[in-house]
Amino acid sequence: MPQGKPAGVACVQLTADYRCALFGDPRRPAVCGRLRPEPAMCGSHREQALRWLGALEQATAS
Ligand code: SF4
Repeated sequence: MPQGKPAGVACVQLTADYRCALFGDPRRPAVCGRLRPEPAMCGSHREQALRWLGALEQATAS
């Protein structure tokens, strides 16, 4: 996403089955490759992960 990914908007590279269309591709943003998921951010199911992501987006909103 040339202007960056706005909070609350899914990445355009996210496929319908929630995979990264650029995984393994050198065009994948470096920040994505550096991210190391942890159990606290993923939770035990998707809704927990989305809550964590929403809280992070709120905490870093300008
Ligand atoms: S890993 Fe990065 S490029 Fe891939 S879907 Fe997630 S945010 Fe988009």
